[in-house]
Amino acid sequence: MKPLRQAQLEVLASLPLLPVMPIPLLEAVGLALAQAVTAPHPVPPFTNSAMDGYAVQSTDLGSVPVVLSVTEDVPAGRVATKSVTPGTAIKIMTGAPLPDGADAVVRVEDTDQQNGLVNIKVAVPPGTSVRRAGGDVEEGAEVLRGGVRLGPAEIGVLANLGISHPPVRRRPRVAMASTGDELVQAEGPPLGPGQIRDSNRPMLIAALTELGVEVVDLGHIPDDADVLRSALAQGAERADVVVTSGGVSMGEYDLVKAVLSELGEVGFWQVAMQPAKPFAFGRVAGRPFFGLPGNPVSSFVAFEQFLRPALLKMMGATPLFRPRIQGKTRVVLDTDPAKTVFVRVRTWIEEGERWSEPSGEQGSNVLSALAASDALAVVPEGTGTVAANEEVILEMFRWPEERTVDEL
Ligand code: AMP
Ligand code: MG
Repeated sequence: MKPLRQAQLEVLASLPLLPVMPIPLLEAVGLALAQAVTAPHPVPPFTNSAMDGYAVQSTDLGSVPVVLSVTEDVPAGRVATKSVTPGTAIKIMTGAPLPDGADAVVRVEDTDQQNGLVNIKVAVPPGTSVRRAGGDVEEGAEVLRGGVRLGPAEIGVLANLGISHPPVRRRPRVAMASTGDELVQAEGPPLGPGQIRDSNRPMLIAALTELGVEVVDLGHIPDDADVLRSALAQGAERADVVVTSGGVSMGEYDLVKAVLSELGEVGFWQVAMQPAKPFAFGRVAGRPFFGLPGNPVSSFVAFEQFLRPALLKMMGATPLFRPRIQGKTRVVLDTDPAKTVFVRVRTWIEEGERWSEPSGEQGSNVLSALAASDALAVVPEGTGTVAANEEVILEMFRWPEERTVDEL
């Protein structure tokens, strides 16, 4: 059995980077920048008012109240034609360029206006309510580093800079098939004797979609070497990565390994982890191949530990791995020291500390306990037992909302 870390490093080292191409801003959500982005112009592009009010010379406000004459009115999107001179003010709206001569803005709340005059009731130092050109981003500054994945805030920053086609690596395409004669689709007929629903294919397609991957759905295939062979070949033609679930255990009907060695190469087989010990990595017609285990929780954990970081790597993203935090376990975790064990846990905060406890039965088929968890408690190989109330590594695979309206 290969140690998990070594297996992960081997997988990651063998992956190609996807090509860089300019992609329209809104189609680039979730993709990673292939290089740092520097600002082609300052943000804001010009010095402007942070408030609705009056642009003034602050030296005019030596003793207040003081009456100034209002010479002009500038809304956002227009530029004043006059300058502010001693004894005058220009009425200004938020976002309008600061007129020449002005060095501060007095909020409209601190004034009274009447017949072309304004009574200023407060003194303000220079720079008050003024947003300096470049105050957000200086021209030429690095605003986003290479490897960053584009979320809403990054998309906004790029739009701010007029970058309509950011340099990203293109969206990966992943071909996905589930295998197993016993499987029936959720939308299929009632279960017959010996049949179960195919949970892995929808679960994994959902996980891939959430990651921002384009899924090539190869459907559900029976335990038949010919069908499997042609599905994998088709997957390799149509996608960057080929993924299957099931058929990687030691059983007679576990055909993935046999077919894989005909079509490509089997990298390794069996990782010192639990769940997801049976896991295959290799190549099909030159494409990276991930043979995820059939047991649904194993399939999920193998996705998390191998496929997800692999796809992020191909996308050019850095970093690659889920956040880990230090928490505590409410109960003893008694695990196999020969493996890295992932315990499905629910977590909560108590007196500023994050606690965890198993979210249910830990069998690799028990999907309900996975759905009740937000984190994998990681017990590294060589550890075995973690005592109750001791520290444990929590790998947060999601970070859902956890406060209700009552906790506002
Ligand atoms: P296998 O690796 O194909 O031997 O499958 C291991 C276990 O996982 C068996 O109990 C299968 O019935 C189950 N299994 C395999 N594929 C799926 C799937 N797509 N959805 C739900 N369970 C599955
Ligand atoms: Mg099977």
